[in-house]
Amino acid sequence: MASKEIPYKIYLEENEMPTQWYNVRADMKNKPAPLLNPGTLQPMTAQELGGVFCDELVAQELDNDTAYIDIPDEIRDFYKMYRPSPLVRAYCLEKKLGTPAKIYYKFEGNNTSGSHKLNSAIAQAYYAKKQGLKGVTTETGAGQWGTALSMACSYLDLDCKVYMVKCSYEQKPFRREVMRTYGASVTPSPSMETNIGKKMNADHPGTTGSLGCAISEAVEVATSLEGYRYVLGSVLNQVLLHQSVIGLEAKAALDKYGIKPDIIIGCAGGGSNLGGLMSPFMGEKLRGEADYEFIAVEPSSCPSLTRGKFAYDFCDTGMVCPLAKMYTLGSNYIPAPNHAGGLRYHGMSPVVSQLYADGYMRAVSVKQTDVFAAAEQFARVEGILPAPESSHAIKVAIDEALKCKETGEEKTILFGLTGTGYFDMYAYEAFHNGTMECYLPTDEEIAESLAKLPQV
Ligand SMILES: *Cc1c(COP(=O)(O)O)cnc(C)c1O
Repeated sequence: MASKEIPYKIYLEENEMPTQWYNVRADMKNKPAPLLNPGTLQPMTAQELGGVFCDELVAQELDNDTAYIDIPDEIRDFYKMYRPSPLVRAYCLEKKLGTPAKIYYKFEGNNTSGSHKLNSAIAQAYYAKKQGLKGVTTETGAGQWGTALSMACSYLDLDCKVYMVKCSYEQKPFRREVMRTYGASVTPSPSMETNIGKKMNADHPGTTGSLGCAISEAVEVATSLEGYRYVLGSVLNQVLLHQSVIGLEAKAALDKYGIKPDIIIGCAGGGSNLGGLMSPFMGEKLRGEADYEFIAVEPSSCPSLTRGKFAYDFCDTGMVCPLAKMYTLGSNYIPAPNHAGGLRYHGMSPVVSQLYADGYMRAVSVKQTDVFAAAEQFARVEGILPAPESSHAIKVAIDEALKCKETGEEKTILFGLTGTGYFDMYAYEAFHNGTMECYLPTDEEIAESLAKLPQV
């Protein structure tokens, strides 16, 4: 079989790794809408953003025109410790499915943080250090982002303050200890250290917190402490830029064997891994050089692309962050408990949102139990125990491969396997015990939340 000439893993040499990130905004005709100041509703200026974020990251956030941005040597050195990440041909899964489709996945779980988030964490920590800052603050829900940032900060000798949603803090003590191993301070949110935290605790005694509240706390601490800035692990343009390393490596590896994917699939929480994986391919599509089908996969319990509205909304519950134009379910939307913590955000990256609105990609939502069935099927043949988030992409990759089985088409499918699921065994347990629930929000619930969108 000719296809057997393709190895199970396509590696790049160190000297084949990208030296620049690719900024897909440069090739977009309709640029993502600017962030707005929550007070004045005017576009955020670099100076205003500089009060919250590091200067170099503000420049990247606002740069809609430069297609390629150099990756500083120090960041490339760090990348070399765990990159290039493997691009794997899922021969075993193909065989099991009996599909003529060719399936590839880009595996980002082979670092201690267990996800792709380290790609942006090291970049953000680097620019903070370069600016002479003492430290950074952030929030974490499921814990992957906090872990990635702790690793990056300890490498660069920066202080790292993580506000971890209280229910995760209590349910995932091991995540917390990994962060502390890397020297971060981890505070359950809402805390009694911030005004917003005190208010939340007073208004909602016994609350176990939310991502939106933890963001507000981290921003408050960053803006009130000398020498600190706030950093965010997804949604922002700068994060998508850093994550383009995933797509650039994948494309370089495929190009080595002259392989062109037909379908590119990623799970979408805030949109950073999908945005990063698809960026160089999307660039070709935007420039009219090639065509690809892009699919975003989201949980049916938090369906921002498939059932939300493309509108300006707050990025946090405390309404202290800038407003972004994005597909959103409303910043007050509280998704039903879902084990894919990284996909429980009410909004979506403005870049991904704009591309979706302009018809360059499609989105599907999938049910939690179907996702875990796919995760288990994948683990049993490919060996890797996938994160619940990543398993959303697995589910749709399998669906597309099975369609090929029916039609006999030999499509090439590429999907992003964003991480491993070792800290999610309670979720796997619920699936195995048959107690996992799939909650679908009603149209009324979504409409009620969207009715509270800010009037812009
Ligand atoms: C955070 C996370 C996601 C979702 O975030 P995006 O910004 O949409 O990529 C997906 N998978 C894993 C493993 C994560 O940690």
